[in-house]
Amino acid sequence: MVAGYFQGTYAESELAFDLVALCRRAGARFIEARAERIDPAERTVDTDGARISFDALSIDVGSDPVGTDTPGVAEHAYSVRPMTRAIELKRAVMTLEASSSICIVGGGAAGIEIALAIHRMTSNVFRGADITVLERDTTILAEYGNSVRQRATHTLRKLGIRLRTKALVTRVSHNEILLGSGEKLRSDLTAWLTGPAAPELFARSNLPKNAAGFLLVDDTLRAVDGSPIWGAGDCVTLRDFPRTPKTGVYAVREAPVLVHNLRAALGGERPRTYIPQPHFLALLNTADGKALLHWRSLASHSRIAWWLKDFIDRAFMRKYQKLIRD
Ligand SMILES: Cc1cc2nc3c(=O)[nH]c(=O)nc-3n(C[C@H](O)[C@H](O)[C@H](O)COP(=O)(O)OP(=O)(O)OC[C@H]3O[C@@H](n4cnc5c(N)ncnc54)[C@H](O)[C@@H]3O)c2cc1C
Repeated sequence: MVAGYFQGTYAESELAFDLVALCRRAGARFIEARAERIDPAERTVDTDGARISFDALSIDVGSDPVGTDTPGVAEHAYSVRPMTRAIELKRAVMTLEASSSICIVGGGAAGIEIALAIHRMTSNVFRGADITVLERDTTILAEYGNSVRQRATHTLRKLGIRLRTKALVTRVSHNEILLGSGEKLRSDLTAWLTGPAAPELFARSNLPKNAAGFLLVDDTLRAVDGSPIWGAGDCVTLRDFPRTPKTGVYAVREAPVLVHNLRAALGGERPRTYIPQPHFLALLNTADGKALLHWRSLASHSRIAWWLKDFIDRAFMRKYQKLIRD
């Protein structure tokens, strides 16, 4: 929904729900703090405020964008997560001048959606900024089929959004980007949307991890070393299905299994197993009243796909907003 928020389709309030109220309703205590280190042996989590002890720990901290240690990224590049960063990015785009250059780093689903949304935003205010999508790989949307890639490429080119593949960004400054080739590009605003990397928290914690640093869990979503630690969403890699995409679809489906297994572990019952679905429906907002749909070998670019995306996203958010109200 972030791309829709950029275009003005959704208000900020439609993208969020009151997490504190939701916790209260669930009988959970909410502590606003950043987890800095997990110690499985001591069963403690160090936060920026205090040390918290646990009997069972469930981790769902999402992912960090790939390459945030690239010089200048922390100081000069915008991101879209958490939501407060997306709000900052939208505000920054709105203050740009007509001749501005914008670079979107990352040609995955998020990068393409945000590039198209920013194009729509700026063309509503002025004639449109100079937008470039930079992708280090040989192709954009690497996890999608050829027909989706072709349709996305066509849509970007038609709008004059430049696409640069095999373009590794090695430095970002306030108005420039340096590529691995030594080439410099003007960039008055840089958005860093490079896909999921393991959270920094894990590098500081003695947890079982895969080579990329994600928490390695078994088919019950429990840490593979058997410690009383569970995990779900982008921050985990499933030992038996290591190629499971890091998208919200899987995080959401893991949730009921996770809840069951946490309760089962504390109550001495049998856990359930989680088997990820082999395919997922992908819907990319192209900011023109249409969406790109990808399901197995099927691809289309249509208004119906946008309608479906809008319906699914709004229904998902409403479910939680309603739960808090009732
Ligand atoms: C622009 C964009 C569009 C997307 N569109 C879709 C889509 O249409 N469909 C889809 O299925 N997926 C989509 N995704 C992917 C989807 O957002 C993620 O897969 C999903 O949010 C993962 O859920 P999660 O709960 O694992 O992590 P997150 O949603 O990232 O939540 C993790 C939370 O943990 C908090 N946190 C992180 N570190 C710490 C710490 N150390 N201490 C305390 N809290 C911490 C974060 O602030 C955050 O609130 C999109 C992603 C982006 C960037």
